[in-house]
Amino acid sequence: MAIELRILGRHQVQEHDTAFEYNGVTFSQDNLHTFAGLNAVDTREYVEQTFACLREHGQVCARMGAYKPRTSPYSFQGMGKECLPWVFELAGKYGIKVISMEVTREAHIDEIHDALRQSGNVTGAMLQIGTRNTQNFELLKAVGRQKELPILLKRGFGITLDESLMAAEYCASEGNTRIIFGLRGMKTNFGDPHRNLVDFGHVPVVHRLTRMPVCVDPSHSVGMRGASPDGITDIFHVAAQGVIAGANMLLVDMHPVPKKALVDAAQAITLQELPYFLEDVAIAREAYEKRRALAASRVTELSKAA
Ligand code: PEP
Ligand code: MN
Repeated sequence: MAIELRILGRHQVQEHDTAFEYNGVTFSQDNLHTFAGLNAVDTREYVEQTFACLREHGQVCARMGAYKPRTSPYSFQGMGKECLPWVFELAGKYGIKVISMEVTREAHIDEIHDALRQSGNVTGAMLQIGTRNTQNFELLKAVGRQKELPILLKRGFGITLDESLMAAEYCASEGNTRIIFGLRGMKTNFGDPHRNLVDFGHVPVVHRLTRMPVCVDPSHSVGMRGASPDGITDIFHVAAQGVIAGANMLLVDMHPVPKKALVDAAQAITLQELPYFLEDVAIAREAYEKRRALAASRVTELSKAA
């Protein structure tokens, strides 16, 4: 049975605009942006090196975690609001326009709004709802009530796709329809040795069921840096799999010195790898565009023949 996505659903193929613009960056089901950066903010030096590297390679989007939901209460919990002023100031210095940043409770939304305002809005933020909070309905309603910042809603790791799409609809029902839907793998031992079972085959499914742009997070899906005999790491492989299926956003953990990263050190790419990663992603994107053009020409041909 079809689920009721009154706002985000595609009721007729062309009914809804799938695109939105935020801080000069357009998000849609037709383009692609890479958000590479720190899983968790640690030092000013690492944040600055990361932004500088992104600028050097033409990037205007980044990921930076200030509030970290951790499995263990004894693990580093993120620097919290204290880092926001200098993270935003540095982002502005390097021309970063959108930072994806997870929030785990309502107060974090206000802290981000305030810090952005105090920075003179030199940069912008996308509020990320993590997989552990996909069904935290009060948090979903709170991010949906503010209409200034777009939302990255990650799929729940242990619930159905429909349930996660409904979570996105919760945000939209409060007024904010600028939502990107994030795939990040599902929790099951069937995914071993990867951290999660990659679910990027659902990129086209979300495209046809909703008007949302779709993000894939290869870092949290794979969770490790294995490489196969072809010389390509698993993170690069699954990133390409998401992109060749039409993904619109890539969220990637990157760190100047991965072994010093305080969260998820095993899955971060290095700054030196960024240009190689971007080139590999561009190959996959070009292949997707060619596949799309091929499909369009074949559909016309086949319908004429029918
Ligand atoms: C993250 O992107 O930092 C994160 C915690 O992701 P997820 O919610 O997908 O685990
Ligand atoms: Mn993580």
